[in-house]
Amino acid sequence: MIPLRQNIASMKGYIPGYQPPDIASWIKLNTNENPYPPSPAVVKAILEELGPDGSALRIYPNASSQKLREAAGELYGFDPSWIIMANGSDEVLNNLIRAFAAEGEEIGYVHPSYSYYGTLAEVQGARVRTFGLTDDFRIAGFPDRYEGKVFFLTTPNAPLGPSFPVEYIDELARRCAGMLVLDETYAEFAESNALELVRRHENVVVTRTLSKSYSLAGMRIGLAIARPEVIAALDKIRDHYNLDRLAQAACVAALRDQAYLAECCRRIRETREWFTAELRSIGYDVIPSQGNYLFASPPDHDGKRVYDGLYARKILVRHFSDPLLAHGMRISIGTREEMEKTLAALKEIG
Ligand code: PMP
Repeated sequence: MIPLRQNIASMKGYIPGYQPPDIASWIKLNTNENPYPPSPAVVKAILEELGPDGSALRIYPNASSQKLREAAGELYGFDPSWIIMANGSDEVLNNLIRAFAAEGEEIGYVHPSYSYYGTLAEVQGARVRTFGLTDDFRIAGFPDRYEGKVFFLTTPNAPLGPSFPVEYIDELARRCAGMLVLDETYAEFAESNALELVRRHENVVVTRTLSKSYSLAGMRIGLAIARPEVIAALDKIRDHYNLDRLAQAACVAALRDQAYLAECCRRIRETREWFTAELRSIGYDVIPSQGNYLFASPPDHDGKRVYDGLYARKILVRHFSDPLLAHGMRISIGTREEMEKTLAALKEIG
């Protein structure tokens, strides 16, 4: 028997949705990736960084990703000391738990949202408490004073789609004794975001990613924005070379091409609204979404049946077996053409 920690031995680990090996030939709408390529400036920057023979890769990257902090700071209007870069926002979510929740202490999040918070907490031996949602999209039973060390709020919510209003989040920040982490993975697709709250509350952290709106899921680039003392704590515990050279080059170029980002997001929002209306016209329930995905349930509320029907046609969406979600599916917004094919398939499946 290997001397494994008890909590690691007993945990299941995060189980991502199944994906077939020949996924390249499918319509892939299961993990909220961007259907468009990244900015041409990103590709150029990566090739330049690589150089003709790749010899730049011999050298370690800048350990603090300083240029990225500066570029992100300029973009969001914060001093770079308020920014930390991460190997995907998952890394910074993990480090927030490591920094703020010791073994046996509590972290909380909304269910349904991103269940990976729970997995990350389990690894640290932190306790997990989840809260449901009310019909008017507020957190059910959230105490006047929440004593957990970290509370994660996914806004826009995934997999459901709506954002929480800034005034409501502002109130939550006051009710949290610990840190309130606003996971704004999908913020660039939304009408509003809660970034301003970082200035207003010392316990608020906002996380962002380049995986979705910037089409860079394959490069693993995320970031957090918070008070410098929070950033300093996160800097102590991250891997010291957490972003590779190519990711650093890509990130600066991506953040600087805001025109490309805006156009990409505009197209996705337009397709999302069109697809929402089409689904409703064939009797689907669709939750209004602020992200690049939507949560939709067929008239018979049998999400698995429709998921299987799409699967048989090589269209992959996400079905969750959780009883709260099993009636529907989360469908990422692809190109207009992909969504037209998906709609035609849904009509066929009935
Ligand atoms: N939070 C949410 C809500 C997500 O959906 C995802 C991606 N699936 C992440 C965080 C992690 O994103 P990444 O590590 O690619 O930045």
